[in-house]
Amino acid sequence: MGFFTMAKTVLQNLFGRPPTRRYPAVPARVGPITRGHVTIDPARCISCGLCMRRCPSQAIRVERAEKVWEIDRFRCIACDACVEACPAKCLIMESGYIAPVTEKEVERHPITYVKPERPQKKEAAEG
Ligand code: SF4
Ligand code: SF4
Repeated sequence: MGFFTMAKTVLQNLFGRPPTRRYPAVPARVGPITRGHVTIDPARCISCGLCMRRCPSQAIRVERAEKVWEIDRFRCIACDACVEACPAKCLIMESGYIAPVTEKEVERHPITYVKPERPQKKEAAEG
């Protein structure tokens, strides 16, 4: 590399705009193909376990009896398969900021969905 080429590069790096941004202070750029991270609305989850079965990296665990939905963010590869499979549409890919995961800790969400009661039959209700 010639002297002038090197000097130009040095000056550009000294006085140019930084190529990185101060995320999360400065929001990340979000495009139409940005995946983000999986989030659940536990009030709509019907504990069917389809997301767990479709997950290629075994990142999700659904404990029907305990009414718990868990995700291991270290395992998740943000493939979107669980979001596509969920029949209750309670999983979404959110592109907002979440604190980085620093420990091998599984995220636990108690499922709060309550199955609506069946309406009583007319005759039974009257009689
Ligand atoms: S996005 Fe993919 S890897 Fe992550 S939990 Fe869903 S199915 Fe599993
Ligand atoms: S998140 Fe969706 S697919 Fe997973 S158990 Fe709940 S309802 Fe089923």
